[in-house]
Amino acid sequence: MPASTPHSYITPTYNPQPISFTRGEGSWLYTADNTAYLDALTGIAVCGLGHCHPQVTEAIQQQAATLVHTSNLFQIEWQEKAAESLCTAAGMDSVFFANSGAEANEAALKMARLYGFNKGYKHPKVIVMERSFHGRTLLSVSATANPKAREGFFTLDSDFIRVPFGDIEAIKQVAQSKSEVTAVLLEPIQGEGGLNIADNGFDFLTDIQALCEQQDWLFMLDEVQTGNGRTGKFFAYQHSNAQPDVVSTAKGLGNGFPIGACMVSGRARDLLQVGSHGSTYGGTPLGSRVVHSVYDVLRQTGIMQNAKTEGDYLQSNLSDELKALGVTTRGYGMMIGVVLPEQTDCSNLVNDAREQEQLIVNVTGGHVVRLLPPLNLARDESDQLIERLTRVVKHTLA
Ligand SMILES: *Cc1c(COP(=O)(O)O)cnc(C)c1O
Repeated sequence: MPASTPHSYITPTYNPQPISFTRGEGSWLYTADNTAYLDALTGIAVCGLGHCHPQVTEAIQQQAATLVHTSNLFQIEWQEKAAESLCTAAGMDSVFFANSGAEANEAALKMARLYGFNKGYKHPKVIVMERSFHGRTLLSVSATANPKAREGFFTLDSDFIRVPFGDIEAIKQVAQSKSEVTAVLLEPIQGEGGLNIADNGFDFLTDIQALCEQQDWLFMLDEVQTGNGRTGKFFAYQHSNAQPDVVSTAKGLGNGFPIGACMVSGRARDLLQVGSHGSTYGGTPLGSRVVHSVYDVLRQTGIMQNAKTEGDYLQSNLSDELKALGVTTRGYGMMIGVVLPEQTDCSNLVNDAREQEQLIVNVTGGHVVRLLPPLNLARDESDQLIERLTRVVKHTLA
């Protein structure tokens, strides 16, 4: 270590940008000197209602002063209310609350194994997609495609069969050639993998569901990133006619408060029973009340409609501004990829955006600028985002 680098007590799993924010409000983050940054990342698709949404803040404050935690050994009224609100929005039967996306997926994957175990399978397998991301626990990282996340950890590799995203024929092929398959797990739109949507859009989900019915597999969706209004509906699969057996979510679910959820219905309904899974913190009075308030806001305001309208506006304007430079856009609602030409060196783009335009964005897959703005982004903020990002991209391509 160079002598000039002070020792950090934080394990270096991240390489943070040299900036720290002290306050957030709506679509804006502020440094200690009160410089405002337009936040088109929202803590990686987490603060969908904007930073410190007043209704959520009030729920946190009131519940923090009333009761934070009792454990699931007792009835938790707010957990029951949050569960009803969430399951009604999703059209699912019941929910297991966890603390993160990876944990929600861990619950889903455990159910897939149990489904096979109950049929007498020796080695149940789950079909997953290329370029998928499902989290960092051992099982969820094994389901993940990215080699950087998997390297050194994927002890459970043989539990998964990987197919190209959007390729229903490849999944049918697996149905014919492999035994002991119990489930398919995928993201309706791949987030970390580069904002990928299937060629036939959300109809891909309907195709998979039909196959799952036919094969008696669990149809499991990872909506950790796409859920909670991000694409303009509570959940992305609601853009299709598909009805999943398992839906995991997290990120926007708590608007920054850490909580995850794994919902079940259909064939997965009765899999988890007393003692078969658990969590000390999952669904605390505090976390549950936050979820309840997030869903109140999603229901009571036109915020999801706004996510679709402003998302479309962002995509069409960015595309108009930048298409002459070979830039395209993709995504849905407030989950947008701005795709630069493949060989573009984007290594300075995030820093340029932050330093020159006070704009917070992220780059995925090497050349895709990832925009995950608040769902309630105002029109003048959309215009600012378009202007600022257009300058950054032009500078990058100059
Ligand atoms: C972020 C993410 C996860 C992991 O969530 P954590 O809360 O970081 O564990 C899983 N799946 C998808 C699709 C994600 O975007």
